[in-house]
Amino acid sequence: MAENTFMLEVVTPERVVLSDEVQFVVVPAAEGEVGILRGHAPMVAGLKIGVLRYTAKDGVVRHMAVSGGFMEVIDNEAIVLAETAERGTEIDILRAKAAKERAERRLQQRTEEISFTRAQMALQRALARIKAAEADRP
Ligand code: ATP
Repeated sequence: MAENTFMLEVVTPERVVLSDEVQFVVVPAAEGEVGILRGHAPMVAGLKIGVLRYTAKDGVVRHMAVSGGFMEVIDNEAIVLAETAERGTEIDILRAKAAKERAERRLQQRTEEISFTRAQMALQRALARIKAAEADRP
């Protein structure tokens, strides 16, 4: 491992989305963005729906949409366990835009609180996907 890198693993219940050496990662933690470099002290942070960005070992900054879960940092390894995670380059942007519009329509209707909260979360996921996809487009 290069002297300025550490391992980043992003895992969902479905798959390992990323397992690679990186120089830097910023995650959308519940309390705000948290940046991790090599040698970071051990920590656990809850994550919210948002965009994770990392500087790969080749120096390129890449993005991912993540929803929920948490991150653990220990011994130069950051493990993100998320409910869903997609790399910016693999996101279907039209699908995310359709999900955004669907959620916005639901939020305009008078619905029970539980559907309102679900629609708000669906909207947050869609916005994070659009942001990550646009950030990784050439
Ligand atoms: P949709 O209404 O479009 O299904 P959703 O927010 O309900 O969106 P999720 O339940 O969060 O979708 O995700 C279901 C699965 O589909 C997960 O594996 C997730 O990674 C994947 N996924 C969701 N939206 C996209 C997208 N726009 N591009 C690529 N994969 C996606």
